[in-house]
Amino acid sequence: MRENARTMQPKSTLASRREALRYLTVGAGWGGLLTALQTASAAQEAPAKRMPSIFIGHGSPMNALQDNEFSRRLRQWGSDIGKPRAILMVSAHWLTQGNTAVAVVTKPETIHDFGGFPRELAEMQYPASGSPLFAQQALAALKSQRAVPSQAWGLDHGAWTVLHHMYPQADVPVFQVSIDYAQRGPYHFGLGRELAALRARGVLIAGSGNVVHNLRATENSDATRAQASKPWAQAFDDAVKKALNSGALEALMDYPALDASHAMAVPTPDHYWPLLYALGAADFSEKPAYTFEGFQNGTISMRCMQWG
Ligand code: ZN
Repeated sequence: MRENARTMQPKSTLASRREALRYLTVGAGWGGLLTALQTASAAQEAPAKRMPSIFIGHGSPMNALQDNEFSRRLRQWGSDIGKPRAILMVSAHWLTQGNTAVAVVTKPETIHDFGGFPRELAEMQYPASGSPLFAQQALAALKSQRAVPSQAWGLDHGAWTVLHHMYPQADVPVFQVSIDYAQRGPYHFGLGRELAALRARGVLIAGSGNVVHNLRATENSDATRAQASKPWAQAFDDAVKKALNSGALEALMDYPALDASHAMAVPTPDHYWPLLYALGAADFSEKPAYTFEGFQNGTISMRCMQWG
């Protein structure tokens, strides 16, 4: 298998991570084979409960450790959705260039892709298994796009810090799909549309980012508040909600068209693009239900939503 999923990680880190993942996969031995067989047999059980498409505003990694309004809502949300057969996660923190990578690892590593946080957070593990079977189904669904299998990624903090609350037992297989950062909105939305078919097979499709995310304009207080501390953050979050409610898909794909506040609210689109995967995986007949609304650190929108 040719590994051409290039990431934003330094090469040395990536190489060692790839080695570690290969070791884990090979080292899994009979256990790995058993997991694969169990996953295959689970996929043959019929019928699957159709799963929703969701978008999670993840905010600071510290939410993984905290018991706050947001984390409590995530716990309730996971319980309300129930256990999917697998979770397909598109996180703002796995960016590739020139292709879309799908992680086909058996035992995804918990990636601590942040610095300056307490040791407790750096040592947290989220030991969910991967799902090579559903990852292959995702690759098949993406046949019209430049999708490639990858062993180079486990679960980054956009995935595990929120899944830690939604599925605290880590008993649902999870695999990530990267964001091709060379592409624009319609591409990301289009991939969401192609992946939508997996929902009927019991796969929860999740985008994890933040509708408003400007780390140069945050405040230290991590209290969750109903309103943003800056008008531009509130204006863009409001504009996104309005566009979602009215089905203004073209404006959502071309986010500068949503509101003039985009320049401050979305200085780079990495945390916005996951929304388009979740939106693309929604049926046109499904309206978004807002699972969480509010801001942390003054200007980070924690808006979460569910279709179906
Ligand atoms: Zn993030």
